Amino acid sequence: MFDVEKIRADFPILSRKVNDRPLVYLDNGASAQKPQVVIDAITKAYTDEYANVHRGLHFLSNLATDKYESVRGKVARFLNAPDEHEIVFTTGTTEGINLVSYAWGAPRMQAGDEIVLSVLEHHANIVPWHFLRERQGVVLKWVECDQNGDLDPQAVIDAIGPKTKLVAITQMSNVTGTVVDVASICQGARSLGVPVLVDGSQAAVHMPVDLAAMGCDFYAITGHKLYGPSGSGAMFIAKDRMAEMRPFLGGGDMIREVGREVITYADPPMKFEAGTPGIVPQIGMGVALDYMMAVGMENIAAHERSLRDYTRVRLAGLNWLNVQGNSESKGAIFSFTMQGGAHAHDVSTILDKRGVAVRAGTHCAMPLLEHLGVGATCRASFAMYNTTAEADTLIDALEFCHELFG
Ligand code: PLP
Repeated sequence: MFDVEKIRADFPILSRKVNDRPLVYLDNGASAQKPQVVIDAITKAYTDEYANVHRGLHFLSNLATDKYESVRGKVARFLNAPDEHEIVFTTGTTEGINLVSYAWGAPRMQAGDEIVLSVLEHHANIVPWHFLRERQGVVLKWVECDQNGDLDPQAVIDAIGPKTKLVAITQMSNVTGTVVDVASICQGARSLGVPVLVDGSQAAVHMPVDLAAMGCDFYAITGHKLYGPSGSGAMFIAKDRMAEMRPFLGGGDMIREVGREVITYADPPMKFEAGTPGIVPQIGMGVALDYMMAVGMENIAAHERSLRDYTRVRLAGLNWLNVQGNSESKGAIFSFTMQGGAHAHDVSTILDKRGVAVRAGTHCAMPLLEHLGVGATCRASFAMYNTTAEADTLIDALEFCHELFG
């Protein structure tokens, strides 16, 4: 039984005040708050269980290695990935997608080859492909969403041509909350022999993910949005794709033997993890994933659906507010602008004065904002610990802004 008050009690920061008001944290799309179990796990890792991993034969090194390596299996379970050896630890989605661009994309793509991507993408799933465009003449083929923010999976499949080497697509927009039917895209792309990279940074926080059913080749998650520490993350890479990849960063841990003229590499996934990794952040992410799995992803998704439905109706009642992208199939993420031209930064500053934390700007998604015809928006993004009462506080604060700006 999902009890939001019980969940809230697990997150100490939620009981603090901001500007003398109870904190209403609606900036979860940027980063989520951490439950006490994660904070405790980080403290314990440093106070009791810390050493470098993989290298030592002493007690603490073995202990830290076991704790750290056990997270690979947790990620695999969380995503229902076929094999934990297909999980590469990263510092987050940005590193994960850059890894794929450099280690898999660059050696396999030539001038004129194409990458299909959607206008919904975050810059983390755009800029690494621009590198290939700039350096190697790869062509980026953009698929548009409609004004509601919906992306037709068939339009993505139709954009695949004989020169397409990769489809790179988000499962949930961080601006509009649109949920993309990535399983259909993977099925269509697979039938045409084209690999698919899915950016799961937002989706994996809010809904169950089943990679075995989805059938993608690459899937990125980022720990700090999953109630874990910043600097943690993972990339699922299907075995066949891993076998096609050259190493990314070079250094300790990713090698088998190093000589003066020769080098051999460790087997994947270690081949893609050079140097001392984010030991404690990854351990913290593992605890965060345990926490989410214990709450239940179906329960989290159901709670957030009710927050979405409630907030959608309340925002629709503000006839001076434009919500960007109001797809039926969306998460509890709302980007909006106020009619009359109040700047998003000013609106967010006033909301902050009332304890309401939202994000303002272009949300690392400039092509999408341009497509939607807006410069900057405010974004309220909900998480498992938010309540409908907090949505009411947001609406009250917006009404106050409206009175102020007229
Ligand atoms: N992709 C999406 C959809 C995101 O929302 C974000 C973060 O906002 C990222 C990628 C980048 O994640 P990170 O900054 O953790 O690497």
